[in-house]
Amino acid sequence: MKFSQLAQYIEKIEKTSSRLSITHLLADLFKKLSSQEIEKTVYLLQGRICPIYQKIEFGIAEKMVIEAAILAFNIEKSQFNNTYKKIGDLGKTVEYFKKEKTFLKKTSPDILAVYQALYKTAIAAGEGSQEVKINSLASLIGQVDPLSARYLVRIPIGVMRLGFSDMTILDAYSWMLKGDKSLRPVIEKAYHVRPDLGFIGRQIKQKGIDSLTKIGPKIFTPILMMKAERLTSAEEIIEKIGRCAIEPKYDGFRLQVHYKKSGHLSEVKLYSRNLEEVSFMYPDIIAGVKKEITAKEIIFEGEAIGFNPQTEEFLPFQETVQRKRKYGIEEKAKEIPLKLFAFELLYLNGKNYINAPFIERREKLTSVIKQTNNLAKNILITAPEKITDNIKELEILFDDAVSKGLEGIMAKKLDGIYQPGARGWNWIKFKRSYSSKIEDTIDCLIMGYDYGKGKRASFGIGAFLVGVYDEKADKFVTVAKIGTGLSDEEWLELKKRADKYKAEKKPAIYEVDKQMSVDVWLEPVIVVEIKADEITRSPVHTAGRKMKPSKTGSAVEVDIPGYALRFPRLEKFRDDKRKEEVTTLEELTNMFLHQKNN
Ligand code: AMP
Repeated sequence: MKFSQLAQYIEKIEKTSSRLSITHLLADLFKKLSSQEIEKTVYLLQGRICPIYQKIEFGIAEKMVIEAAILAFNIEKSQFNNTYKKIGDLGKTVEYFKKEKTFLKKTSPDILAVYQALYKTAIAAGEGSQEVKINSLASLIGQVDPLSARYLVRIPIGVMRLGFSDMTILDAYSWMLKGDKSLRPVIEKAYHVRPDLGFIGRQIKQKGIDSLTKIGPKIFTPILMMKAERLTSAEEIIEKIGRCAIEPKYDGFRLQVHYKKSGHLSEVKLYSRNLEEVSFMYPDIIAGVKKEITAKEIIFEGEAIGFNPQTEEFLPFQETVQRKRKYGIEEKAKEIPLKLFAFELLYLNGKNYINAPFIERREKLTSVIKQTNNLAKNILITAPEKITDNIKELEILFDDAVSKGLEGIMAKKLDGIYQPGARGWNWIKFKRSYSSKIEDTIDCLIMGYDYGKGKRASFGIGAFLVGVYDEKADKFVTVAKIGTGLSDEEWLELKKRADKYKAEKKPAIYEVDKQMSVDVWLEPVIVVEIKADEITRSPVHTAGRKMKPSKTGSAVEVDIPGYALRFPRLEKFRDDKRKEEVTTLEELTNMFLHQKNN
């Protein structure tokens, strides 16, 4: 397919605000693509050239796109910038000049040719690479038609902003094959083990839908991480899963470790919850894995946390989190050494352990970690566990964890499988309770913000709208607009982060009441952990809200009000979570039903 045809689809998608219509458009597009084209197109639609866990970035700033454009159009920078100021959008400015400069010949390249050129542009590195990038972008701008140029330049600077999620693409694959979304569960299951949308698309085209059930773990492709359900008492836990393994719940950050050894060579890659490769941040853990793992090939998970071996004390999250950094890594590693408490095995020496019972996974994991009695020396430690069906004993374990400064405990079902990407009752978290009615925090997506008034006017942000994820509808629904409880530094930090993700209009996957509209809409990227005193009901929030036709006919009115957070406060930014990992509407409903005195 020609890139120009793809550009026409993108334009239609951009103009559409209904998720279902976007899905249909994507399905229609996917039908027309070959297996190679579908793979590359899906990356391009997301403003990338590879799946998110691969570390190839374009390394192209807006400035460089402007350089490329003036080179392609042979105009003065001031001329470009003046028009850019008027139009206010880089893609549309390039499109404008492309229409003007009719002398440029159009060769109408196909998608694969554009992809190849962008790929080469991205991997250019080292001395002189900026020039290479600018020149090849200029050459591409020269070749394509005006509309294609608009989107072409948006790809490398990461502003495609088409407002759909990975789930929309999975749905579109189903629509492409069957004209409905009935195949989504099969497709999603494969995606959880191999979260590479391009690969899944190619596989479906090449080998058919049935081949997806055979997809297993692959070293250096992160598996979507399993999530825990929550309960609020030892009694409920035993009632739910009976005899189970109790482990401390460490408040650090989760890492998925991929390790391969062949001969004298060994390689380790670490992935965070949002599938980002973060190996470079943790040289101490990399060294620990190489020294202490006895397997040839393994994928396992653990929680990394600052630990003082002398006092056997865990460091609070605020200290551990300082290890997440891009610079000064070695010095911080000395100041805050980490331990990795390993708790899950997914793959070992060619064998897939995802569907093995927990107890077997744990036994195998323990058998491939060299452990000494000297905690100070080990980097890897198998998370200690106690198997019990005794409520009293569970309570004592919980109190013990809390007294050590940990968050609480995790209860694991003995015969439970590992469920990639899913939240299930095979893992249950039980966290220490706070003085409020709800005992757990809520992870929310920031959907937009309002400009500030009064003192906050100088910050340019005065309140922000947050929501949870309605998994069934693949939509984000609102629960609170937060305007208090942040320090000045937090407001400034929030504004800085928010401005990176401004959206032109409300993304199609947001469901927001008119009264909760905001001054600035944000792309679905920033996840925060919110603490609230209580979950109440409110007609202006869309989480769990049901509408019905009004008595007068055409209009609709609130039938059942939505859920809202009372006294919400920002606990922390959760950069480690993807948007789909925020609290779901179902969880929130459960929290509402189980909150104290309800
Ligand atoms: P939450 O982030 O509150 O939903 O809790 C789930 C998280 O707890 C997991 O993603 C892990 O990062 C963390 N965690 C800490 N200790 C454990 C453990 N022993 N087993 C599993 N997860 C753990």
